[in-house]
Amino acid sequence: MSSPGPEGKFKREGFVISSSGPLTKYYDVEQRKLGQGTYGSVSKAVNKSTGALRAVKQISKSQVKNIERFRQEIAIMKQLDHPNIIKLFETFEDHKNIYLVLELCTGGELFDRIIEEGYFTEKNAAVLMKQILAAVYYLHSHKIVHRDLKPENFLFLNKTPDSPLKIIDFGLAARFESGQVMTTKAGTPYYVAPQVLQGKYDYACDTWSAGVIMYILLCGYPPFHGDTDAEILQKVKAGKFKFNEADWKNVSGEAKDLIRKLLTFNPKDRYTAEQALNHPWVQHLAQASDAPISRSIVDNFRAFRAQSQLKKAALTVIAQQMSENEISTLKKIFMALDKNGDGSLTVQEIREGLTKAGLKDIPPDLEQLMKEVDSDGSGVIDYTEFLAATLDKKLYIQEDVCWAAFRVFDIDGNGKITAEELQHVLGMDSVKGAFDNTAIANIRDMIREVDRDGDGEIDFDEFMKMMRDRK
Ligand code: AMP
Repeated sequence: MSSPGPEGKFKREGFVISSSGPLTKYYDVEQRKLGQGTYGSVSKAVNKSTGALRAVKQISKSQVKNIERFRQEIAIMKQLDHPNIIKLFETFEDHKNIYLVLELCTGGELFDRIIEEGYFTEKNAAVLMKQILAAVYYLHSHKIVHRDLKPENFLFLNKTPDSPLKIIDFGLAARFESGQVMTTKAGTPYYVAPQVLQGKYDYACDTWSAGVIMYILLCGYPPFHGDTDAEILQKVKAGKFKFNEADWKNVSGEAKDLIRKLLTFNPKDRYTAEQALNHPWVQHLAQASDAPISRSIVDNFRAFRAQSQLKKAALTVIAQQMSENEISTLKKIFMALDKNGDGSLTVQEIREGLTKAGLKDIPPDLEQLMKEVDSDGSGVIDYTEFLAATLDKKLYIQEDVCWAAFRVFDIDGNGKITAEELQHVLGMDSVKGAFDNTAIANIRDMIREVDRDGDGEIDFDEFMKMMRDRK
């Protein structure tokens, strides 16, 4: 596992539980399928203790050709934390299948929405592109390339007109190093970048695909098309496309300019996701909605800092599991503060956001406060870290919510959290699994703060008490 982090810091990957027990112990799974993928099906499910609605993706182990590749997909998903990327809550495994418990999307595929609408107004297309580009920017800054961006891989969270859009599939995603050249041919004909077909490419293949999606959103058909896959791929290889006058005469020059910059043949000259997010077309048409940024955010950060270590971790688990409608205001604030749209906040962004909202006296210890909110020590505030520090107490002290969080820490399900379990969930195991004195001492301190009966472990009553206490 991972090396112990700096004191008081923890990793969130361990918060996605991997169980070998039966899925049906914790979830009622509906018979009717929501969809069918290459290796398995997706069904709606209800968490038996919290009533939370989820999507369960069932993958047959015998059908997956490369199970290690699939485990890599899960490992990538566990690491991701962005409002436009589907959340993975937990995984189950039995002798036949692996099950992924995911955030449930009820708004349908972007692909179907395009078929229904034909094409989108520029404003609507910009709102969608901003979300697609934000997710891609986030992935690229975390050194992950998606390699299969297409409208089928985006789902709307719900059926409202302004529903968020989420990337759902990471089946072809890979980690990369700066300057690394990839050679595996992956993708889907209409959307694949020419360099992928040449067998020599880098993460810029994703921004090409984003350009193809943007083109389709605005006219209803792809820039490179043909009757067969071979014909399509031939057009992609040449990389030449046109804006047919009849279909594009009412589309702005700014939109066409951004498409040209994304569909630039040479990946070195192609726009990055960050540049695209800053392009005037996105900036003008897809402005962040007004969010109630106020002094109370800083007060919340301050209160969060005063919490015990374990409570901070528990709040983070809870924040990770909250559904979007419960945290919609907080999400709006986060998006409004996230000036460059990369899905994380710097101290500078928070300072600017507060100043813009008219706050006169920015607290001098803001930077120190932010360091405490940055619970994984990455140097920036991630989405879930922000939510954890600003969650409303009324939401998080509900017993079922706390029980779901308790389950994450209580790995063996015996009703008590031990030091070993805590160490494992927080990613504080030492490199070789060897005994690490500092990490163990940290963990014991965390337990001691909460362990009222002094038995060295934490039961659910103690956990609930910790959540209800002011500190
Ligand atoms: P996949 O195996 O990821 O390609 O998923 C197959 C189909 O299941 C998709 O095309 C969606 O229609 C549906 N689906 C996948 N994930 C979800 C989800 N999180 N919520 C709702 N439906 C989903």
